[in-house]
Amino acid sequence: MGAGPIWDYSKLCIHTITTKPWSLDEAISHYTRAGVSGITVWRNALEGMDPQSAGRRIREAGLEIVSLCRGGFFPAADSEGRQKAIEENLRIIDEAASLGAPLIVLVCGAVPGQPLNESRKKIRDGIAAIQPYAEERDIRLAIEPLHPMYADDRSAINTLKQANDMAEDLNTETVGVAVDVYHLWWDQELEAEIRRSGRAGNLFAFHICDWRTPTEDLLNDRGLMGEGCIPIRNIRGWMEEGGFDGFNEVEIFSNRRWAQDQEKYLEEICRAYLQAS
Ligand code: ZN
Repeated sequence: MGAGPIWDYSKLCIHTITTKPWSLDEAISHYTRAGVSGITVWRNALEGMDPQSAGRRIREAGLEIVSLCRGGFFPAADSEGRQKAIEENLRIIDEAASLGAPLIVLVCGAVPGQPLNESRKKIRDGIAAIQPYAEERDIRLAIEPLHPMYADDRSAINTLKQANDMAEDLNTETVGVAVDVYHLWWDQELEAEIRRSGRAGNLFAFHICDWRTPTEDLLNDRGLMGEGCIPIRNIRGWMEEGGFDGFNEVEIFSNRRWAQDQEKYLEEICRAYLQAS
């Protein structure tokens, strides 16, 4: 195993989706053996499982649960759809509480053809509706802005400025932002907006990967750190200057990587992590 001393990985968290072919229990044992410190659990990895016992197994293995991915998808066109989304998000909050995840990442949603401003209003109302329930259960909610190429059907929140505006408008300690370098690296306002999130106490999560050229698939061709053009270390520096000292969460959707031997891939992730962070 090419891994360095364990303390090098004290801020390394991996999203289960990154090693999608593995079951949750495989991910737990491989991550632990590699010296990884944190895990962000995607809901598909929990399917058919009791979240409470899954959470216990994760903690007993020595991994910290960083967050649950993901909630959101609020802005349905009709009120029935929006109510359904709220109910689903309340279930996700229960799941996070059972699992022992302190944070839920929100992919906020968008509806093709619905004006983005209208979607944003509905997103705000959706988050406001679930916030008290989350607060009672000590679960924080992170608004994750997505790259504008997903503004049609995944998220009407596309810049950190928009996420900051919304978090500040909601004005509660429960709601902050998730900074994902894949979505935000291109934005000339990024440094200033990270500083602003930091001042407001809203820097809740930091996701890393890289942007490949050419990108062959808009969703599932993310790169391993070092394979692309994102200045990850600079952005991490801005996060730290903003007061963030949480995990570097490796979140990579990649058809190429999922087709690869996952144990070798995990070794590559650990190596790339040391070079990029
Ligand atoms: Zn992310």
